Amino acid sequence: MGFCISCGQQHQDGIRFCRFCGNQQPGDQLLARLRQEAEQIHYMRLQAQALAQQQQQQQYSQNQYNQQPRW
Ligand SMILES: [Zn+2]
Repeated sequence: MGFCISCGQQHQDGIRFCRFCGNQQPGDQLLARLRQEAEQIHYMRLQAQALAQQQQQQQYSQNQYNQQPRW
């Protein structure tokens, strides 16, 4: 099941035109591209999170090092 990108009515997958408003619906290629973009964004977000965590850990270990007494 899909939803019309124009009027929002529910319709079957794989149709080219909405039967309610007649608007052209995104084809399989477009859907695949959108899905790919969404995955890329998701991946970039994961990378950014990992990077932020790494930086936090580095700061933490640096602080620990500074707190150690120097004999
Ligand atoms: Zn429609």
